[in-house]
Amino acid sequence: MTVEREAMEYDVVIVGAGPAGLSAAIRLKQIDPDLSVVVLEKGSEVGAHILSGAVLDPAGLDALIPDWQARGAPVTVPVVQDQFYMLGPAGQIRIPNTLMPPLMNNHGNYIVSMANVCRWLAEQAEALGVEIFAGMSCSEVVWAADGTVKGVVAGEFGRQADGTPGPNHEPGLELLGKYVMLGEGVRGSLSKQVIARHGLDAGREPQKYGLGMKEIWQVDPAKHHQGRVTHTMGWPLGGNAGGGSFIYHVDNNQVYVGFVVHLNYANPYLFPYLEFQRFKHHPMVADLLQGGKRIAYGARAITEGGLQSLPQTAFPGGVLLGCAAGMVNVPRIKGNHNAMLSGIAAANAAAAAIAAGRSGDTLSEYDAAVRDGPIGRDLKRVRNVKPLWSRYGLLASLGLGGLDMWTNNLFGLSLLGTLRHGKSDAAATGKAADYKPIDYPKPDGKLSFDRLTNLSFSGTNHDPNQPPHLRLTDPTLPIRVNLPQYAEPAQRYCPAGVYEVVGSGIDARFQINFQNCVHCKACDIKDPSQNITWAVPQGGDGPNYPNM
Ligand SMILES: Cc1cc2nc3c(=O)[nH]c(=O)nc-3n(C[C@H](O)[C@H](O)[C@H](O)COP(=O)(O)OP(=O)(O)OC[C@H]3O[C@@H](n4cnc5c(N)ncnc54)[C@H](O)[C@@H]3O)c2cc1C
Ligand code: SF4
Repeated sequence: MTVEREAMEYDVVIVGAGPAGLSAAIRLKQIDPDLSVVVLEKGSEVGAHILSGAVLDPAGLDALIPDWQARGAPVTVPVVQDQFYMLGPAGQIRIPNTLMPPLMNNHGNYIVSMANVCRWLAEQAEALGVEIFAGMSCSEVVWAADGTVKGVVAGEFGRQADGTPGPNHEPGLELLGKYVMLGEGVRGSLSKQVIARHGLDAGREPQKYGLGMKEIWQVDPAKHHQGRVTHTMGWPLGGNAGGGSFIYHVDNNQVYVGFVVHLNYANPYLFPYLEFQRFKHHPMVADLLQGGKRIAYGARAITEGGLQSLPQTAFPGGVLLGCAAGMVNVPRIKGNHNAMLSGIAAANAAAAAIAAGRSGDTLSEYDAAVRDGPIGRDLKRVRNVKPLWSRYGLLASLGLGGLDMWTNNLFGLSLLGTLRHGKSDAAATGKAADYKPIDYPKPDGKLSFDRLTNLSFSGTNHDPNQPPHLRLTDPTLPIRVNLPQYAEPAQRYCPAGVYEVVGSGIDARFQINFQNCVHCKACDIKDPSQNITWAVPQGGDGPNYPNM
């Protein structure tokens, strides 16, 4: 069915009010206040869907708004202490900071809520005349016949559960731009289509991902150390998966407690959410959290492929920004600075092109700036850490990866060349017959919580009367293939309990509780049959994160 829509024209259309999209918008207006720039965000407000650690390397902010401190940026908690621990089930060994490669040092960085940083960036952008529309999901790409991206469709509301327009149907708008910037973050739904249509990932390694889960805790003031940053590896994941935790002491006696599980794990019985929950029972962590209160929960995937997986970032009519392309420095768990730097680079390229009378072509100069500039350099020196971890496990990779980062740091070279990632995370999933189920302790309701209880601390809400935004290419596949072969891992990898196998034997049924979805994108990434597509729900639906 063709839908008639009004069109609005801008110089630049930006999808996503994350650090990448907002930085692009601000830089465009700094260069030329007369450019018309719109930012479209699916969250109910800017920040509602932002989840990050976060320790912020201010490199991007310094480049964008050098006087950010004077302008009251919510970047006020400098890191004062860095701690690295290797955990065993009952104890821990601290890795001396002197052994850590210098790039792992967080001196000069800040503990922030990226949601709040984005809210502040949005204020700066609006003051410059950027139009920002929150609650606007971009659901389709507007293509020219030759594949040039002309714009996006945003703001369609009121389709009924069966997909037909309901009585209050709003068809949405076509927002057309001389250039379209996709700043959707990790595994963007429109970015995925553009990457596929233009083969932007041809000849690159598959993108790799982790699943990050985060809780905000209000802790006993006596145990709070503002500015302390702790990272752990080892228990409870052990050899079952790569990953680790972060514990960031921000202000107001709050602590950001997070856990990342690399999604290339093989054992389909692994339950990332319950790994996170049992991690909090480690004596070192339990001691910090006891007597405290969990006040927020959320989850989001994180890109981990680095330089080898970086697709071409420019295409006819637009660019991929930040984590829509994948710009996280994995050992540092940092992508916000690169997201901001990519927004700045894209804006520089687009503004110059528009000033020269160009539009709708490929901004190759942006791709070159990403690869040859600070982003490429940042990713290059850590490019072997993730492949080493995937191949040799934690301990060997700590030694080899550490050595590789030291040689990169000291001499600007790697003795290993550039290692490959190999399989996608979906293809890395092993068969259930080759693994044993893992026995997880039941959450105690004090330090650890079941998924649905925790979900109620994410503010998640979706209008139930809309088409499910989690789409199965073959609806029979979960029970016909995934259940017998992989014990249907969606039941476990989803951090919000969206997927359930109800009943057994010939009565078994795959149920999708899409209302619970926190938009982490893990299902789109990890389903071993690649049968699940995450599409945007109606604008404003999803989590409502406070200061994630
Ligand atoms: C658990 C975790 C911990 C992390 N810790 C750190 C850290 O300590 N330091 C650090 O620097 N980095 C960290 N990162 C990485 C960092 O968060 C990312 O690199 C960064 O968020 C990328 O910014 P972005 O602007 O590209 O995307 P995002 O921040 O993901 O923003 C994308 C925005 O686009 C919106 N959007 C997406 N699709 C659409 C659509 N179709 N229509 C409308 N809106 C859309 C989303 O709602 C969102 O608001 C962490 C990530 C995770 C998951
Ligand atoms: S349904 Fe998919 S995107 Fe939504 S929370 Fe679960 S795994 Fe994440």
